[in-house]
Amino acid sequence: MQKFYVVATPIGNLEDITYRAVRILSEVDLILCEDTRVTLNLLNKYNIKNSTMSYHSQSKIGKIDKILELISEGKTLALVSDAGTPTISDPGSILVSKIREAFPDIEIIAIPGASALISALSISGLPASEFTFLGFLPHKKGRETLFKEIAVMERTVVFYESPHRIMKTLDSLKKYVGERKVVVARELSKIYEQIVSGSAVEVEKYFLENTDKIRGEFVVLVSQK
Ligand code: SAM
Repeated sequence: MQKFYVVATPIGNLEDITYRAVRILSEVDLILCEDTRVTLNLLNKYNIKNSTMSYHSQSKIGKIDKILELISEGKTLALVSDAGTPTISDPGSILVSKIREAFPDIEIIAIPGASALISALSISGLPASEFTFLGFLPHKKGRETLFKEIAVMERTVVFYESPHRIMKTLDSLKKYVGERKVVVARELSKIYEQIVSGSAVEVEKYFLENTDKIRGEFVVLVSQK
């Protein structure tokens, strides 16, 4: 049975990859990467000499046709993103769906590994058996409405945030979620890994007083109502 692999890669620390992922990335015919330079860094670390091809959010529909053609030629491919699990706020779901449609018999296999949202949840101390993941919040349209929805959600809420918008987001949380606990997980698995938690007011105050910490990658969690 022909296989197509969706392979999770580290979210920072390059040691966070499974033995199986390293083997699959060595064995496949071609690795589809969000950014080939980022993946090459990982491949070099594990001495994996394999071919890569880019597949990212700006890839044209023709790229999917090319990938389907390679599969029809019998090639075994693996999909990775720059960090974490492909398709989770990353490109890949359309590709996977097209592959399923075109090749109903192909085995699409997940190679599990890191994902920032799961890592953040696991150390947040917030209830994690049930949660709502919102990916990246919209920048403008629908943003306020979403905060109003977050305010009444009865599950832990998790979303991704950039350093450019984290202060704006904390300000909105202050307005909408009151005393509920907010946890900000920053730079997970990296040198400056950090968790800041408290009410939205307290977390915002921390970052206002420590502006050098408004950098890197963020996961934001809000406790249930
Ligand atoms: N597919 C990835 C995953 O499985 O986590 C997510 C990709 S998404 C494009 C990138 C966002 O994930 C970042 O902007 C940040 O919000 C979050 N993220 C990724 N790595 C992180 C890390 N090491 N620490 C905290 N957040 C991280």
